[in-house]
Amino acid sequence: MTFLFLSVIASISLNLFPRYDGVVVEVIGTSLLKPVVQTSGYTVRLDFAEQVLFNENTLIPIWVNNFLIDSLGFTVEFDPSIASVDWALSGDSMSMILFARAEEQILLPPVSWQAPPPFEPDTALWSDSLVFAALERGEGSPWLVDFDCIVLDPGHGGRDPGAVGPTGSREKDRTLEISLMVRDILRIRKPELRIVLTRSVDEYVSLGARTRMANRNQADLFVSLHCNAAENRSANGFETYFLSRARTDDARAVQMLENNSLDLDDISSVPEDPLFFLLADMAQSVFQNQSSHLAGSIQSHLGNAFPMRINRGVKRAGFFVLRGAYMPAVLIEVGFISNITEEDKLKSLDFRFKAAQAIVESIIEYAEREI
Ligand SMILES: [Zn+2]
Repeated sequence: MTFLFLSVIASISLNLFPRYDGVVVEVIGTSLLKPVVQTSGYTVRLDFAEQVLFNENTLIPIWVNNFLIDSLGFTVEFDPSIASVDWALSGDSMSMILFARAEEQILLPPVSWQAPPPFEPDTALWSDSLVFAALERGEGSPWLVDFDCIVLDPGHGGRDPGAVGPTGSREKDRTLEISLMVRDILRIRKPELRIVLTRSVDEYVSLGARTRMANRNQADLFVSLHCNAAENRSANGFETYFLSRARTDDARAVQMLENNSLDLDDISSVPEDPLFFLLADMAQSVFQNQSSHLAGSIQSHLGNAFPMRINRGVKRAGFFVLRGAYMPAVLIEVGFISNITEEDKLKSLDFRFKAAQAIVESIIEYAEREI
């Protein structure tokens, strides 16, 4: 006697996300996942001993030559342009991500890019005068009622490489990889959250454009990701900043480093309107508590994820990229790319996944406190 009935129980569902450096296969289960993963050449076999269902809207990206689902799991055959395959299981063992990465960046036809849906904000809601009025009353921006949108800001990009490590690793690549991972994990953990990236490819975005994007999207949180660099090559560890006047020499040095991108900006992208600076400063003080609270939570989650690394704590500095964001905002320096050991860590998927997971945990904790 066979239990045909079992095969119609939807226990595991699959989503594919194509992206410029490969493809992410997201597997979400209703019970604990215990995947057995076997790889051979470009073929990966995942056994869950359970029926897997394809999400109806899933498009097979060009890196996938074959996708076979059976009663125990699935087999995926990647295109030879894929250079490496890694996978990671979430902390609660309910979801896993399979990362297939291409050796080189692949330019996607625009239609297949899974960008956030176009968003037409109600401009009346976020006009400067409304924001100004709210801030003057000591309130947050008018849209901060529901926690439903977060902006992730991968530092640098395009002609601005950011800091470059001893073996040539560039900050702009590492910040993009971690940000994409934060987005991917957040998509699993908080599907109701709208996640906007200030850039999702290697392109130059001015500092001013980054916060304007956050305001335009009425984001509830702005998280900027960076890698630190110091003259002292042994400097290491992680630290999180929120906006304020820099207090220590160290913070001032980091501030100078990150504000350097300003030189690359078109001068026209820096608003000259005095209202902008007034608003920016008011917003800073209104959101300082929330921002410093989130910064503290990020530091403690990163501390749990990396008990052997140095927790450099929460710091304050006057980053330009955080100015002009009319919402709580933090800037994370996940590690020192100028330190050869940390540069090496930043290159590893496992390290980036752990860092991304820690950041996601603190965002979720923050979101749940805010709702
Ligand atoms: Zn940076």
